[in-house]
Amino acid sequence: MLEESHYYFQKAADVLNLPDRLREIIWTPIRTVKVDLVIDDDAGCLQHYQGFRVQHNKSRGPMKGGLRYHPAMDEDHAAALANLMTWKTAIVDVPFGGAKGGINCDPSTMSERELNSVTRRFVEQTKEIIGPTIDIPAPDVNTNAKVMGWIMDEYSKYAGFSPAVVTGKPLELFGSEGRDEATGRGVMVVLDEALKDQGKSWQNIRVAIQGFGNVGSNSARLIAEQGARIVAVADHLGGVSNDNGLDIGALVAWAAEHRTVKGFPGGKAFAGPEVITWDVDVLIPAALEDAITEENVDGVRADIIIEGANGPTSPAAHEALVERGVLVVPDILANAGGVTVSYFEWAQNIQQFRWQKDRINEELTSKMREAYAAVRTVAEKEHIDMRIAAFVLAIRRVGKAATSRTYVAENFRF
Ligand code: NAD
Repeated sequence: MLEESHYYFQKAADVLNLPDRLREIIWTPIRTVKVDLVIDDDAGCLQHYQGFRVQHNKSRGPMKGGLRYHPAMDEDHAAALANLMTWKTAIVDVPFGGAKGGINCDPSTMSERELNSVTRRFVEQTKEIIGPTIDIPAPDVNTNAKVMGWIMDEYSKYAGFSPAVVTGKPLELFGSEGRDEATGRGVMVVLDEALKDQGKSWQNIRVAIQGFGNVGSNSARLIAEQGARIVAVADHLGGVSNDNGLDIGALVAWAAEHRTVKGFPGGKAFAGPEVITWDVDVLIPAALEDAITEENVDGVRADIIIEGANGPTSPAAHEALVERGVLVVPDILANAGGVTVSYFEWAQNIQQFRWQKDRINEELTSKMREAYAAVRTVAEKEHIDMRIAAFVLAIRRVGKAATSRTYVAENFRF
């Protein structure tokens, strides 16, 4: 995954004509931390996991990024995702840098007590490098508001009451209205912009979604509310389709009970990976990375792809899609709604003030529309696709902030 982000970064750096030394400096994370987390499991045995936090760049503010609990989590994943966070926060112009981390555990095989223990060990081992003005974690794959509440509690033991150390918290613990659905709402707003770009309206639009967790299910619900039809949804266990449009409310209830969309009675079953090549206008990969690759890209039939997930498209697939004129709204723009409302949450925590949900949604919508327009402007001006344009915009903003903070020689200025 790191190699893939590097590929896009280099293409954008070429557009910006950046010298090699500057590329190297901007690309390299400022700090990488790996910790061993020992817990006693429910059977009374000692278990240990590895935790990671990669802090990529802090030129524009404290670093910000999710925590992912997944068996495949490692330093490379954390570094690649931290890097994306630096660009994402710059694109939506929130005052943060980028970081990412996680633990290589499998929550599906762990009890809540075990998850609580491993989370607290992680905070214990990283408390010096996180904090409201240093690095602010948030939920990602397999972590949620409950885990964020535990992090706040553990950190507050050392630093005093600190709600702003983490975002995506429960509302009762000074979480923000609208944070849960924020990434999905952002996906819906950028899709609205993409449809306008292509002169289309919501009516008669057919949509397929891979992944039905936080991002997939909220995107589905909000997109269906606009009048589009969600005709296929898949997760890690299987898919379900309905040509007349799936009943998303019923599917959300089914998935909450069964922890999968598989078996949903309101549609036909299909093998999960087929969702990528479904006959639709819009495809939303909202699961994990490498969903669209050289192997399946020729079968993609959508004209618009909105990357809800981080890193769902491989570079070879990206080039093939650009060649075919498919409009791909890249992850660092499309899924930035989450970090945007995380910023609102952090700002509310610091002010010790709560905003109403309408205000959150309005400000989120305008940030996403502004970000889309800014990326679109760079794409048109430089004659490049939206992904490389997003990188160009972000690298320029980060570079300008970094070089404004210090003296730099003429040839290293942005
Ligand atoms: P989640 O854990 O809530 O849901 C993940 C979903 O993906 C589940 O439905 C799971 O079944 C599905 N999935 C996993 N492996 C799959 C596979 N091989 N094939 C099909 N489906 C599969 O996670 P989430 O928070 O919704 O995050 C999804 C993606 O969005 C990740 O790439 C994450 O980094 C990115 N993201 C999340 C947020 C956020 O606010 N949660 C913000 C920005 C980006």
